Amino acid sequence: MEKSELLYEGKGKKLFKIAGDDTQLIAEFKDDLTAFNAQKKSQEEGKGVLNNEISTIIFNEVMKHGIETHFIEKLNDRDMLVKKVDIIPIEVVVRNVATGSLSKRLGIEDGKILPFTLVEFYYKEDALNDPIINDDHAIIMELVDDRAELDVLRELGKKVNDILLPYFDSINLRLIDFKLEFGKTADGKIILADEISPDSCRFWDKDTNEKLDKDRFRQDMGGVKVAYETVRDRILGK
Ligand code: UDP
Repeated sequence: MEKSELLYEGKGKKLFKIAGDDTQLIAEFKDDLTAFNAQKKSQEEGKGVLNNEISTIIFNEVMKHGIETHFIEKLNDRDMLVKKVDIIPIEVVVRNVATGSLSKRLGIEDGKILPFTLVEFYYKEDALNDPIINDDHAIIMELVDDRAELDVLRELGKKVNDILLPYFDSINLRLIDFKLEFGKTADGKIILADEISPDSCRFWDKDTNEKLDKDRFRQDMGGVKVAYETVRDRILGK
């Protein structure tokens, strides 16, 4: 399985075509760290390896519970074989606890446990700073085919949360919030894509509330790699 042409380079991954194969891609996890729409940039040696490892295990976990994903197999330290999908340009953010942009925008106390799981949609467009959108916006902008697809995204977001909340709780991690991306297969099915890692999730230690995710980078707290390793080690120890 060899990488051919670079199809796309994102902030955390590169996507490569495979010669003679139009149905699969190779995702290479990078060491780059970015925040605030890439206004803040750095590198963390080994981060890509950790995210590939963590994402692989989490994709397998949600698939075990019946969620379809683009994950096929982990090829090596940095590379993951995935199904080729058309990414829906909506970031589906699922929140259990208020923090980050939710607290900032609406003044909701940081750390407040939400009375129900909140699912939000953001338009995935760097040039606009990934603005929050509602269903009407998504339809007007033709980001999906119809409203039923938005319901599918919301339902899948909640389902993934229902699987992952107890999973992370069992390894002493609070799943505070996370971002999912979905893609459409050639036959129009919506499946989970992208990655699930400490780059895209917030994890707080259950006993101390220590942040064990990309917020350590966003907030210049240091210890980014150790935090990602802690998440990996707890998952492996499960
Ligand atoms: N998130 C992400 N990519 C983005 C924006 C957010 O992975 O472009 C994740 C982030 O890690 C967090 C959740 O989505 O787990 C909610 O992020 P929030 O809206 O609070 O944004 P932030 O405070 O990171 O700007």
